[in-house]
Amino acid sequence: MKYYSLRHQSPLVDFRTATVTGQAPDGGLYFPETIPRFQPGFLRELRHLSKATVALNVMRPYVGTTIPESELQRICAEAVDFAFPLVPMAAGISVLELFHGPTLAFKDVGARFMSRCLSYFARQGDTPPVTVLVATSGDTGGAVASGFLGVPGVEVVILYPSGKVSPVQEQQLTTLGQNITALEVNGTFDDCQALVKQAFQDREIARHRFLTSANSINVARWLPQQVYYCFAWQQWPAEAPAPVVAVPSGNFGNLCAGLLAQASGLPLGHFIAACNANDPVPVYLRTGSYAPRPAVPTFSNAMDVGNPSNFVRILELFENDLGKLRAALSADTVTDAETVAAIREVWAREGYLLEPHAAVAHTALRRYQARHAAAEGLILATAHPVKFPEVVEPILGHAVPMPEAVAQLQNRLKRSVPLAVDYEQLKAYLMK
Ligand SMILES: *Cc1c(COP(=O)(O)O)cnc(C)c1O
Repeated sequence: MKYYSLRHQSPLVDFRTATVTGQAPDGGLYFPETIPRFQPGFLRELRHLSKATVALNVMRPYVGTTIPESELQRICAEAVDFAFPLVPMAAGISVLELFHGPTLAFKDVGARFMSRCLSYFARQGDTPPVTVLVATSGDTGGAVASGFLGVPGVEVVILYPSGKVSPVQEQQLTTLGQNITALEVNGTFDDCQALVKQAFQDREIARHRFLTSANSINVARWLPQQVYYCFAWQQWPAEAPAPVVAVPSGNFGNLCAGLLAQASGLPLGHFIAACNANDPVPVYLRTGSYAPRPAVPTFSNAMDVGNPSNFVRILELFENDLGKLRAALSADTVTDAETVAAIREVWAREGYLLEPHAAVAHTALRRYQARHAAAEGLILATAHPVKFPEVVEPILGHAVPMPEAVAQLQNRLKRSVPLAVDYEQLKAYLMK
């Protein structure tokens, strides 16, 4: 499999180069040259295959010969080594819980897969020591930190906006130590992202160390997210119509992975991009014009993205044909007030505790079902409610019980390096 840049000004590369460099030299995102089709045998057997086997089948064509089969088998098994239950929540709606990984976030899958690939490439000795540089609005940082912790040959530097991530998220970023450094930026997520972008374009830094990204622009983080759509399908009742899938979306990597799995033949129904007030994609689907804007803060803060980087991949998948895109994908915008109302109502009526991102998806799916009465669907629950206590606890009336993975972080020492929104400061740090 070869990958091309969506800006078409860079050479084709293999999976190894796409993973190690993150972004093409022309600044474009990498996209697979062909969309592999799942084998008929794979789809027939899918219900009975293990998670590791599913992951291996999905990822093998994308990885090609850059990682030997036995190694890829191990990487796949480790990347999905936790539960992905599809929980029936109410009539016509199930929840795919993606928060049972080590950092209680769906990003664990991509981060674990990518870190192990990068570590394999680093061990081959044909890659210089790598620094993973990443900006996070919440869950990316924790998943990346956990996924790369102790991985030889890889250093991780994470920028996060001070005071704008939840306490659990901050603990996950700042307490691991070893090869993980957290830079606490006195600014917004957009500031963090802008600083990181500038560092990637800095030739002086490039001579000093090899920088790569672990955001969902990296194919090794983006592509493995297809596998849990397969896990959802394994658990979906065989006699039911194909599920409508509502995906809480920020940078649109998760949604784009689902669309890709569908394009490969996974029988899923209509997709819904569930967004908060940051709505350039819903506006685009409505009006046909795309106007990115600065992000505004919401309760579903991991989706506070004003210019979603993976949107160009979705356009590419649909050959920039708005009509085709509209046939496959709807989008909806959900306010903070509606988000809170959904958490409250679902808790009261179903005894199921949503967190803000899943609540956005729930609201969008319910509104879709109001227009399409027969549609049965599922929502992707992208994080655990314990990460959003300020929204969830007033509704619940008490604290969310701590899962073990989080409880362990409670007593650990926070270590972060303060950083102003000043590129020279970041550069000085990276040039050390
Ligand atoms: C990252 C994240 C999202 C958004 O995922 P994208 O792939 O960027 O669209 C949604 N919910 C949670 C909890 C997240 O951490």
